[in-house]
Amino acid sequence: MKIRFKYLIGIFFLVNISLCIQAQEYALVIHGGAGVMSRDRMSKEAETSYRSILNKALMLGDSLLKNGVSCTDVVVNVINVMEDSPLFNAGKGAVFTNSRTNELDASIMEGKTLNAGAVAGVTDIKNPISAAYEVMENSEHVFLSGNGASTFAKKQGIEIVPKKYFFTKNRYESLQKLLKREREREKKDNMGTVGCAVLDKYGNLCAGTSTGGMTNKKYGRIGDAPVIGAGTYANNKTCAISCTGHGEYYIRLSFARDISALMEYKGLSVNEACKEEIRKLSELEGTGGVIAIDAKGNIAMEFNTSGMFRGYLKSTGEKEIAIFTE
Ligand code: ASP
Repeated sequence: MKIRFKYLIGIFFLVNISLCIQAQEYALVIHGGAGVMSRDRMSKEAETSYRSILNKALMLGDSLLKNGVSCTDVVVNVINVMEDSPLFNAGKGAVFTNSRTNELDASIMEGKTLNAGAVAGVTDIKNPISAAYEVMENSEHVFLSGNGASTFAKKQGIEIVPKKYFFTKNRYESLQKLLKREREREKKDNMGTVGCAVLDKYGNLCAGTSTGGMTNKKYGRIGDAPVIGAGTYANNKTCAISCTGHGEYYIRLSFARDISALMEYKGLSVNEACKEEIRKLSELEGTGGVIAIDAKGNIAMEFNTSGMFRGYLKSTGEKEIAIFTE
């Protein structure tokens, strides 16, 4: 009888250990931009479309991670899905600058090696996150901009599109409205930057962010999204982070890097660190949000706006897609 009891205890511990290992296998979190949004003003059809692309991106990430694909490749592939949708302010749906052009930014960073790549102000690269990946993998630089970035991307076999590819009626009308009220900031229209942070089966972290920037931006303005440490950061010691919001504030706060530092030097959890950084953002009267994932697969999705397109998925089967503050 005694031996049997010992057996049971042994089996109980084995099951628990295997559940723990499974719990840490992989996880990913995505965002599709933060901003002013309310349930009443969003049509049911629009909500369904947003949810369906977020779901498509998460499910692609899930199947790649399940098959042992690295966090870096998952970040690129998941962001490509959102870049190809006109719904988000990244790739196809990028917002317009004051000069009626589209200037796109993106960055990617690996937590294991601290390798990073970024492009800014590109006008003809279909998937800027793929170009950022190429900069990281196949150049001696970290950050390329404008025509030079396009020339490099073309050499790497990245798809180049005619500039008119980025024309979408909605975004163009948003610019027109904003030009009429030149001095007003219409934060709603910038919504839709995309980002992804991943923990893979090998315990590695990676984050990426891609955006069209802010509607009506001028003079070659570059936001936080392609700036390593501002809009994107990853370190296996702490977490992987992707941001969305009013980029100038994120740059001034070194937002993403600060979250990592709060974890590394102050021992905060990923959730506490993201909350603290959002508090600092609010103190400066900046708006936006952040997603992050730590080395154990803990996930944070924080924002100080009325909504953020977001979702996460874990190998345990846990999954959530949300838009508003609930
Ligand atoms: N952070 C982006 C930028 O400032 C915009 C956004 O995320 O909404 O360019």
